[in-house]
Amino acid sequence: MPARDPGRAGTGRAAPRADDAGGAAPRAAGAAPAAPERAGAAPVVGRKGPPYEAGHPVARVRGIGPSWAEELAERGVRTVGNLLDHLPFRYEDRRRPVPLADLRPGEAATAIGLISSVSRVRTRRRGMEMLTVVLDDGTAAVPIVFFNRSYLGDLLTRGGRLLVHGTPRYGRHGVELHGPDFDLLKEGDDPARVTGWVPVYEKLGPLSPRRVRAAMAEVLDGLAAGVNDGRPGLPDPLPADVAARHGLPARLDALRLAHRPPPETDGDALARRRTPAHRRLAFEEFFFLELGLAIRRERRRRERRATSYALGARAEKDLVGLLPFTPTGAQARALAEIWSDLKEPWPMNRLLLGDVGSGKTAVALVAMMSAVRSGYQAALMAPTEILAQQHASNLQKILLPAGQKVDVLTAGLPAARQRATRERLASGLAKVVVGTHSLISEKVGFARLGLVVIDEQHRFGVVQRADLVGKGERPDVLVMSATPIPRTLALVMYADLDVSILDEKPPGRVPIRTVVRTHEQLPRVLEGLARALAEKRQVYVVRPAVDEVAAGAAGMKAAEQGLQEYRARFPGAAVALVHGRMGPADRQRSLEAFARGEAQILVATTVIEVGIDVRDASVIVVEDADRFGLAQLHQLRGRVGRGDLRSYCVLVASAEAAPEALERLRVLEQTEDGFRIAEKDLELRGPGEFAGTAQSGAPAFQVADLVRHQDLLLAAREEAFRFLERAGEAGVPEALAAETFRRYGEKLRLVEVG
Ligand code: ADP
Ligand code: MG
Repeated sequence: MPARDPGRAGTGRAAPRADDAGGAAPRAAGAAPAAPERAGAAPVVGRKGPPYEAGHPVARVRGIGPSWAEELAERGVRTVGNLLDHLPFRYEDRRRPVPLADLRPGEAATAIGLISSVSRVRTRRRGMEMLTVVLDDGTAAVPIVFFNRSYLGDLLTRGGRLLVHGTPRYGRHGVELHGPDFDLLKEGDDPARVTGWVPVYEKLGPLSPRRVRAAMAEVLDGLAAGVNDGRPGLPDPLPADVAARHGLPARLDALRLAHRPPPETDGDALARRRTPAHRRLAFEEFFFLELGLAIRRERRRRERRATSYALGARAEKDLVGLLPFTPTGAQARALAEIWSDLKEPWPMNRLLLGDVGSGKTAVALVAMMSAVRSGYQAALMAPTEILAQQHASNLQKILLPAGQKVDVLTAGLPAARQRATRERLASGLAKVVVGTHSLISEKVGFARLGLVVIDEQHRFGVVQRADLVGKGERPDVLVMSATPIPRTLALVMYADLDVSILDEKPPGRVPIRTVVRTHEQLPRVLEGLARALAEKRQVYVVRPAVDEVAAGAAGMKAAEQGLQEYRARFPGAAVALVHGRMGPADRQRSLEAFARGEAQILVATTVIEVGIDVRDASVIVVEDADRFGLAQLHQLRGRVGRGDLRSYCVLVASAEAAPEALERLRVLEQTEDGFRIAEKDLELRGPGEFAGTAQSGAPAFQVADLVRHQDLLLAAREEAFRFLERAGEAGVPEALAAETFRRYGEKLRLVEVG
């Protein structure tokens, strides 16, 4: 590139730069050629050469100085290419400007007129400054009002031609527009330049939304399509054949179209991010994530296993014979998948996903015994002492006839017993062990750890998982989770784990009867509860907040107040309380009182979501149920229906619940299938809100959306894995590998080789 200011190259005229803080025309900085650009792919006219390359520092962009560039760098925006990754979060439909006389209150519209007068008034109320410009287009004169933006006075002067976009309302002078979006048109400007679909951006560091818009326009006008051969421009890292197979436009075209959709773009497709441009960008995000995952899996597969299993049809049949029941179809499938993993030359890394009660523990037991029968030790780690004890006793019950002892290691056990267990583990005498974090203590050593099972994995950090795994020599790993999530989400959240799904319940379970009730029906619910208590049933009552402080302005129901209310209402029943802000000892005391039947009602927050197993509890009432996600309610419902008694789940909506909220709750009336509920929840609330996603370390996407773009995720995954399978890691082109590391290297803990 010649050493001249790239921002000014070739445009011929030095466009006057109005200060954008005051709201100048967004494209002022770019002096963009108008119409052909809007089609997106058309080449830049009237320039000697493209002045921008994707790798240029943002400081080179006209309108962005060095100090802003520094602030942008802190947000990860270092280059022109980084800048372009920030897409509009919505698009304003300014395609059809209307005469001012046609503005209607409550209906968003675009209009263009001349400023016929400007006035400033300081209101008496706290000295608000009100700037009113009257806009006239010959059909009507409409006041446009801005509050506390007196600086606009210098910009919006009499005679100026102004485009406004906003929702009119009735004011003192009839129809008015308050604080609309606007663009000041300059002499000789083509209005088409500011009409059409107008991108609306989030603020980006020091850049106001309008500045972002201006900078994007500037860059998109001055960027050429590059290819991955070192020529300047914007590289397109997606393999051409992949893009072609899925009908995806080139990267620069996609960016131009996504930043500045042409007027004929379908509004619905834009809103749902399903335009070809958005699909291309979403696909790309998924593709590189999946390529990273494929690389990680390939590397793991290069780590050969240290264990070898004595497995075969006969041995497998014997192992299943340990169970006192016939496995469900889903269990049989999961076991087949596990055994197939155990025969691979690399260690297993599998996620077993299934609702509470779907029989995960039974599957884990068979897997563990597969290791034991092959001469290895197997360890199961649970997140809490209670869960560890429950698992241990369940396993022991089943393994007793086979003469297999189950060892337990938790911090709650007497020190001498812990020491004895550690000795049994170190010597190899203990074959099956169940424990808590105590298993990863430095003091614990295994003689021949072959299989690690981790329960409720989202409660453990990745590091803790790795610590237990590190106690063996590349042991096989099985992770169990009782949080059903849609398969697409599992593919992203659990990254490189292979997934087995238990979507079938063991036979003989009595379904839980679930009903949705409005807030007004609460008195009747309480009457029903009185009858249940008279039948000596045990009852959970769940409320969203711990106390009135936590309940806050939203007016949520609080557990602490619930304790008082239920005591007063049901004087004959013992009521206990449990919530996350109680000390562990107090919490334990409440839970045990309930488990032993000493308390008949347990008022709780969502702390009871996991790992509480009280067989006799057969009723759960969730108050303010609309304040919970469906998946969470499903987890809560899982607290009942564990014994032989028919169980009930009553979901009472809050006083504020909208009809749609009640409709949403009815999904739970219709199904007990955790996966279906999870799909619905994902669809309704989006992946950001979805149970556990935030903590899971699942990557955030710019465009890609796990609900809207499920088809693209699956397609991108298939392409990426196939690509790697064909090329091998060494054969991945440098540009592709670089793009993968740039995007997801840190997230996936990929260490670049070479
Ligand atoms: P999870 O660990 O998924 O919550 P469990 O493995 O603890 O489920 O199983 C729940 C209950 O169902 C246990 O009492 C278990 O003995 C029983 N169970 C599991 N699989 C079957 C089966 N195939 N047939 C009958 N009962 C089963
Ligand atoms: Mg379980």
